[in-house]
Amino acid sequence: MDDEWICGRLGEDEPWVMGAVNPPVFENSLFTFATAEELGEAIRNEDERYVYWRGTNPTVDLAQRKLAALERGERAKCFGSGMGAIAATISSLVQAGDHVLVLGAVYGPTTQFLRYLEKFGVTHTHVGDLAGCDSAIRPNTRLLYFESPSYMAYAVVDIAEVTAWARERGLVTVMDNTWSTPLFQKPLTLGVDLVVHSLSKYIGGHSDLVGGVVIGPSRLIRPLALTEYQLYGSAMSPHDAAKVIKGLRTLPVRMAAHQERGLAVAEFLSGHPAVRAVHHPGLPSHPGHATALRQMTGFSSLFSLVLDTESREEVGSFLNKLRHFRIGVSWGGFESLVNAPALSTEESVRATMGIPVGLVRLSVGLEPADTLIKDLGLALEGVGRLA
Ligand code: PLP
Repeated sequence: MDDEWICGRLGEDEPWVMGAVNPPVFENSLFTFATAEELGEAIRNEDERYVYWRGTNPTVDLAQRKLAALERGERAKCFGSGMGAIAATISSLVQAGDHVLVLGAVYGPTTQFLRYLEKFGVTHTHVGDLAGCDSAIRPNTRLLYFESPSYMAYAVVDIAEVTAWARERGLVTVMDNTWSTPLFQKPLTLGVDLVVHSLSKYIGGHSDLVGGVVIGPSRLIRPLALTEYQLYGSAMSPHDAAKVIKGLRTLPVRMAAHQERGLAVAEFLSGHPAVRAVHHPGLPSHPGHATALRQMTGFSSLFSLVLDTESREEVGSFLNKLRHFRIGVSWGGFESLVNAPALSTEESVRATMGIPVGLVRLSVGLEPADTLIKDLGLALEGVGRLA
């Protein structure tokens, strides 16, 4: 099964689709049964039978089958948001008294969720590398959580090395693979136990969807589908599943275009005198480039640069001058976006996270690279030494 076929056709030749070019959206909150016994049997196996939309739905199932196949996982469970998937996944793996290791920088609300779990007696420690893991591991450490490339800094984690370390110590590993999409990186094949994604980024691709997924072996997905999925109520709607299915149809061509345009913009910026650094793992100058080439087959187009300034006002004026990058949160859609933590994060939090004032995050969309490069060139004219 190749990825393009999975994205375009997997599951769509079955009789229930009736040859429809887009599979039907099952818009019903419940399913009915011929007998009370059949309903009872379905409720006992609700992760696999259709009973009620908060648990299962055929359109959502189709999206799940495609996502599981793309990640080379046994099973997938889709959620109403990426955070829904992350919260349910972590909750399913820990209990009071457990400890979680967080390797490298991760999405802010994931850290907030781990802090929230402290009131239930689950603690966590952030570490920078495997040496840090060695010092921070405790007898009650149960889970190792990470992203690669990492949040905002786009540092690359050697996935096979980390999962081997964790397995030797009996830890479960969970990795957020949103940045690469399953097309460019398959962490389950490198030993990760569970992969999570926000589907709101490249997979949705059109900035019209918020969704999430967790993928892995049935032994870990089934309990989570029967318990946390049902109880937290962060269910994916069949309408959103239809958007995921549509997003997947064009994912391979969109990712090729994002890769090419993102790299062209990153290369332009890395040679610019008003830019101190560009954090894009696809650039040969990136410290994680060699590892990235070993474990990834491509690069998406979300990366950061550091402007040559210590002034928040100057960062704000750079953003305001851009005409083709829209100012906003999120990333991975057709539209180019820009955001700067110095303008949206509390000063003390930014400093603790080690994020420089001049750090700017770009999500390169599907506009022509020349247009974006010209836009950035004009906005950079007022920055730092060039001012
Ligand atoms: N993971 C990463 C890396 C993200 O950037 C985000 C959202 O920005 C999430 C997870 C959470 O996804 P969602 O916004 O769909 O809840």
